[in-house]
Amino acid sequence: MYPKVLESLIENLMKLPGVGYKSAQRYAFKLYELENDEIESLVNNLIGIKTKLKKCNKCGFLSENDLCDICLDKNRSSKKIIVVSYVQDVIAIEKTQSYDGQYHILNGNLSSSKGIMPKDLNIETLFSRIKEGVEEIILAISPTLDGEITAKYLSSILKNENVKVTRIASGLPMGANLDYADELTIIKALNNRQDI
Ligand SMILES: [Zn+2]
Repeated sequence: MYPKVLESLIENLMKLPGVGYKSAQRYAFKLYELENDEIESLVNNLIGIKTKLKKCNKCGFLSENDLCDICLDKNRSSKKIIVVSYVQDVIAIEKTQSYDGQYHILNGNLSSSKGIMPKDLNIETLFSRIKEGVEEIILAISPTLDGEITAKYLSSILKNENVKVTRIASGLPMGANLDYADELTIIKALNNRQDI
C-alpha cells in the first residue's frame, strides 16, 4: 500500500474519464516529480476553474467575466447564432475559422433516459436573443439519439419565431459527436446546412 496522500491522489485522478488505477498511479508519480512551481501552477488552475470560471450571461460559453470573448467581439456578426450542445463544440467550430457569428450553448441534450427536460437546458435565453435582430439560427447538434430529439424539439418551438432555422448537414456520421469531427467535415457540414 502507498502512503495515504499518494493513494488519495490516485483516487482523485481516477475521477478523470478513461483513467483507471494503473494510469492514475503513473500520473501520480509524474506529478511527484514535478517542480514546486509547476505543482503550484497546477493547484492554482484547479482552484481557478471552480472560482473564476462562470457561464457567459448571453451565450452560456465559459468565461472569467460576465460576457465571453466571443460575445464581446465587435467584428463578429450578430445576425447568425449557431446552437450547440456543449462548450467543446464551440471550440471545434472555431478551429475551422470559417464562422464569424454568435453561439448559443445548451449545456446538454434532452434525454428521457437521463431525465433531462427542456427546463434543464439553456433554452429560455435563446428566445430573448432572437428578438435582437437575429436572422438565422443554425442547429449544430450532433446526430446522436438525444441530439436528434433535441434538434426536433428546438425546431418545433422556433417555428413561430420570425427567424430562419437551419441545421448543419450531412458529413457528420450518425452518432458522431461534433468535437470528434475533423475540421474539413465541420466546414462542409456548415456550408451545406439545410432549412428545417
Ligand atoms: Zn458569450
